[in-house]
Amino acid sequence: MSHSKSYEFLLKDISTLKQVGQKTKKLLKKKKIETLFDVLWQLPQAFVDRSNLININKLEIGKICTIKVQVIKLNIPRIRNLPNTVRCEDSTGKIDIVFFNSREGYIRKLLPLNEWVIISGKVNFYNKKYQIANPAYIVPLEKENFVKKVIARYSLTEGITEKIYRNIIEQVLQKLPFLPEWHDKNTMENFDNKSWRESILDLHNPRVKQDFQSNYFKRLAYDEILSSLIVLSQIRKKIKKIIKKPKKFRNKLSKKIIRNFRFQLTKNQIDIINEINKELSSQSKMFRLLQGDVGSGKTIVALIAAANVIESGYQVAFMAPTEILANQHYSLANRIFSETKIKTDLLTGKTNFSERKKKNNALKENYTNIMFGTHALFQKKTEFGNLGLIIIDEQHKFGVKQRMELSKKGGEDCDILVMSATPIPRTLIMTFYGDMDISKLIEKPSYRKEIISLSKPETKINEVINFIKKEVANKNQIFWVCPLINESKKLDYEATVKKFEYLNKIFTGKVGLIHGLLKNEQKEIVLKNFLNKKIQILVSTTVIEVGIDFPNANVIVIENSNKFGLSQLHQLRGRIGRGNMQGTCILLYKKNLSANAKKRINILKSTNDGFKIADEDMQLRGFGDILGYKQSGIKEFKLADPIHHNKLFKMAEINIKEIENRKLDLKKYEPLIKLYDKAEIINQID
Ligand code: ADP
Ligand code: MG
Repeated sequence: MSHSKSYEFLLKDISTLKQVGQKTKKLLKKKKIETLFDVLWQLPQAFVDRSNLININKLEIGKICTIKVQVIKLNIPRIRNLPNTVRCEDSTGKIDIVFFNSREGYIRKLLPLNEWVIISGKVNFYNKKYQIANPAYIVPLEKENFVKKVIARYSLTEGITEKIYRNIIEQVLQKLPFLPEWHDKNTMENFDNKSWRESILDLHNPRVKQDFQSNYFKRLAYDEILSSLIVLSQIRKKIKKIIKKPKKFRNKLSKKIIRNFRFQLTKNQIDIINEINKELSSQSKMFRLLQGDVGSGKTIVALIAAANVIESGYQVAFMAPTEILANQHYSLANRIFSETKIKTDLLTGKTNFSERKKKNNALKENYTNIMFGTHALFQKKTEFGNLGLIIIDEQHKFGVKQRMELSKKGGEDCDILVMSATPIPRTLIMTFYGDMDISKLIEKPSYRKEIISLSKPETKINEVINFIKKEVANKNQIFWVCPLINESKKLDYEATVKKFEYLNKIFTGKVGLIHGLLKNEQKEIVLKNFLNKKIQILVSTTVIEVGIDFPNANVIVIENSNKFGLSQLHQLRGRIGRGNMQGTCILLYKKNLSANAKKRINILKSTNDGFKIADEDMQLRGFGDILGYKQSGIKEFKLADPIHHNKLFKMAEINIKEIENRKLDLKKYEPLIKLYDKAEIINQID
């Protein structure tokens, strides 16, 4: 096919461009630019008007100007720290071109004595003279039109000048292929029939206003959304095609377990258990996401499913992101399985060699029924005799690709259940989890008291301390969270240490500290001390994972709470109130809260519903800021924005359902998928 070649052009390595050597390639890689296609998504930050040639006597200080001048004198002092200067003039005046850190040879080549040149840069006034320091452009007269333009300015990495970058983007735009249209007529009407190529050109065109509601922008955003849905739909289709051996069980074990609970399962839990049971005993492979707030009772649901799988003769792997979490699940399982003959075991990175060997043997022999652990569970040496279900907890660090790999790992007969407490706004569920079936736990266990959320200015910290004194006296435990101030681990460390010292003066010997510079093992020691109540107050940045059960922690103090997103505050708050005591969340803030910050705090006070909070968060902060998504690597859109392009997301959902229901041919989407599916999940479209 001739056009398939054209999209392939865009997948070429960046170094195939002229004037892109290994050095530039490395610098671009830092910006995640590796192929020609990647270049297209580095959006212009601004446009610089260099189009007017100005006489020296008309120059405006502080502005970017373009001048046509003759070189009249070079001043190369050859003394360290003194800049090289080149005096130039036109018929109306003189100007100094100043170079810091430029070699003499380079300057002489750019500005040969007596020659006329075009120079563009920001004009300063220094020592009663005009000057331009390190101009962006110096070109001979014949290249005047290369500079005399409105030029798109990109955010550049160090080492890449505007000129070099422009050269790169212009080379790509010039050769931009005409791709066959993949959208149907109806869809295209929404974008005034803007083709992909036209849209990309508009995106980089200084004369076209950057506006996310314009046709070109919406078209490109839609491409992104739809490609993601198609990829997920393809994965889903592949999984649905698998025919597995149904699991046979009579709920004997699970009934026994449920009878022994001190509580009643909620209706929501029962419904989901039934849904899962039906799927386990069917011929189709389960690939299901169990979504619900922290503490909504997901783990219990998963363990009941596990019991059924075990009753049918299969084994279960239960994977947690950290050792502590694996431990917690393991001991919870030991408690609830205590009346049964289910054999549990635990395998983590800490398990030593000889123990590991024994455990692995027991697994292989199908002696162990359920194995808990961290990712150590899926090392090559660990073999299950008859694995029938993989359960994964807190998978928000898992991308689509990892999910896929995991689903392959267990083999065709193995079902997959993934649990997540990351609240996802409704608009995004399909784009994130379109490959999976979803069960949602919304109802909370009834005994659980709503956490009381309060906000206080930091000036009233004494009141907070007094409150904490009472809690400490009552043997309760407290989280004290300091926000990540910036990307610098060192500064965050210093801020948490300060807080630790302050609190430790008041509550001597009762305070622990966790910060980003601690190694995982060190972190786990502190967390264990907190779990075992050796310490009562835990100062931390947001580095502790969600999901750990601290039944005795019922107060959380969040400093600078206005710096956190709603969803993040909600997640933090979810760490307390897991036992049956009243939980209190204290949101500290510095004076002068913005209207937006006030709104956030009020929403948090008014509801405990994670989904609602995620939606509100998105409305208030915009997609890019919602915590967890960027860091989680779940998915990052280049242009599509779930708030501004809400309609497009809905449109894409309808579109993909139509494709699925009518079994439409996906061949025409091939360029779209090949270009946008960075993880290269889909090798073949069918
Ligand atoms: P999640 O995994 O969603 O964070 P868990 O399953 O760990 O939640 O449940 C949190 C706590 O609530 C556990 O101690 C569990 O025993 C308890 N729990 C679960 N379901 C119920 C229920 N229906 N009623 C009362 N307590 C429950
Ligand atoms: Mg949990």
